[in-house]
Amino acid sequence: SEGMTVAEIAKKLHREPAELIKKLFMIGVVATQNQSLSKDAIELLAAEYGIESEEKVEVDISDLDVYFNQEVDESKLVERPAVVTIMGHVDHGKTTLLDTLRNTKVSEGEAGGITQHIGAYQIEKDGKKITFLDTPGHAAFTTMRARGANVTDIAIIVVAADDGVMPQTVEAINHAKAADVPIIVAVNKVDKPSANPDRVMQELTEYGLIPEAWGGDTIFVNISAKFGQNLEELLEMILLVAEVQELKADPDRLALGSVVEARLDKSKGPIATVLIQEGTLRVGDPVVVGTTHGRIRVMVNEKGRRLKTAGPSTPVEITGLNTAPLAGDQLVAFEDEKTARSVGEAREKQAMAEQRTATHRVTLDNLFSSL
Ligand code: GDP
Ligand code: MG
Repeated sequence: SEGMTVAEIAKKLHREPAELIKKLFMIGVVATQNQSLSKDAIELLAAEYGIESEEKVEVDISDLDVYFNQEVDESKLVERPAVVTIMGHVDHGKTTLLDTLRNTKVSEGEAGGITQHIGAYQIEKDGKKITFLDTPGHAAFTTMRARGANVTDIAIIVVAADDGVMPQTVEAINHAKAADVPIIVAVNKVDKPSANPDRVMQELTEYGLIPEAWGGDTIFVNISAKFGQNLEELLEMILLVAEVQELKADPDRLALGSVVEARLDKSKGPIATVLIQEGTLRVGDPVVVGTTHGRIRVMVNEKGRRLKTAGPSTPVEITGLNTAPLAGDQLVAFEDEKTARSVGEAREKQAMAEQRTATHRVTLDNLFSSL
């Protein structure tokens, strides 16, 4: 059953896909017809159709038409920056690579900003932007993907040339493959006398990562994250892979994004870093984020600069939510505050009811055997 698309499930349930999409939306999952759903999402949907909870709040789902009538207009799609996640074994140099990239590239072009850690940042290379997720790579993949948020376009697997392939290297490769995300191998610490990049290449062939020089199609770049060696080449390779992917989004629609990190600040209240995936988020926009909602009060980038708008692939830190969301929660902007509030409140109640009925949760098997 896992991997069934919304359209396939709709057929089984004798419902319109649009109805399922709206129901899914109400329980916090943003999906399209041909999207295959996670097991969690299918179970939530099953619960939605199977459990008549007294707690459930009925929201007129026709209120959501403003949102769902936004058809994908191919002519409106424009190129968007690639979103890159860096993964690899502990101590192989992920943090050093992220830090060197942000210190040498982030400040370029826009002087004066004080760099802050907001969980993601953007750099520029040859006039093109690249977005890096600055959260632990595995968490970004496991937590966020488990919640249905597939935000990464490219995975950089860092392997220390003096240490070679280790258990978390393999884990990282498996995560990237499961998410169907292209891999670039950064063979790090080549400055060390004990470095043996050829051995890393050799070891990775076992996992299907064959360098181009050996007839495969995996890009390998030998780098020294610590000394900034070959990082321009790594960035060029990222742009190359991004170009092949033809990453596009419609900046004109209402914003859709995913939470990268969130916390509760004593003075500012709930703060979330959101990666915008579709559309443009604006200060003042009413939003639903996971099971919370609110109105965008302040939006800042990783330099602490206030932004009025944020387009596709832009990471922004937002305030204005009622409570702190969770990493992987999806953000949806609305045209009017009333709808955002009713959807947000319904989701919140739904989540509370879910918790209470979790033990009696209808499984997918019960659902389909009862049809
Ligand atoms: P992480 O656990 O993958 O985030 O690894 P870190 O970035 O924390 O790096 C672990 C250690 O390796 C630190 O002491 C770094 O200074 C060192 N390191 C990282 N990259 C390089 C490199 O390119 N060359 C050398 N010689 N050391 C490096
Ligand atoms: Mg680290």
